[in-house]
Amino acid sequence: MSSIVLFGPPGAGKGTQATAIMEKTGLPQVSTGDMLRAALSKGTDLGLKAKEYMEAGKLVPDELILLLIEERLKEEDAENGVLFDGFPRTILQAESLAKITEVSMVISIEVPDENIVERIVGRRMDSKTGEIYHIKFRPAPHEIKHRLTQRKDDTEETVRSRLNAYHTQTAPLADFYEDLGILKKINGDQDIVDVTNSIIELLV
Ligand code: AMP
Repeated sequence: MSSIVLFGPPGAGKGTQATAIMEKTGLPQVSTGDMLRAALSKGTDLGLKAKEYMEAGKLVPDELILLLIEERLKEEDAENGVLFDGFPRTILQAESLAKITEVSMVISIEVPDENIVERIVGRRMDSKTGEIYHIKFRPAPHEIKHRLTQRKDDTEETVRSRLNAYHTQTAPLADFYEDLGILKKINGDQDIVDVTNSIIELLV
């Protein structure tokens, strides 16, 4: 069993690129952000505990995230590895992950800070399919515009706090994985298809 980690700041395009990687590798996507949002909308205990952190743009405590991941990795489709999206986000999460599964590659999508706010604040999701659009960079087709939604934490204020969490707690993981020799850097500041193609090249 060997997994891949998609790494990068909020709004780097991890979720968008995950679809292409899933198609190429057959690995299921494990997005802790999506799992937390699902828990929140179901009103589970975990969702309620995570809510205040998510809304403030802060990281949810490691022990909650690690419980979530341990449970998810027990599922049958995770047997041959998974594609982690938005996890790990702290050194402790990465160290804990190393004890439960093998990570073969960490794909780091790099985007300059000054582009992040515009990318996130303009982000919209198709509430029916989960597909991600952007008001400027990837406009949704007219016929689905009525069902576009915006994440509650995709506001300018919350993005600044998420970026701060990224730089202080998550960015140091790049060195952690660089030292293991498995970090692959991708320029995320180009057309979506070009980012996808660069990632696909890593996977062949
Ligand atoms: P995301 O969808 O990956 O941007 O995550 C949305 C929010 O969920 C983050 O701002 C955090 O509050 C929380 N979150 C998601 N993944 C993690 C993680 N691995 N560790 C801590 N908090 C997380």
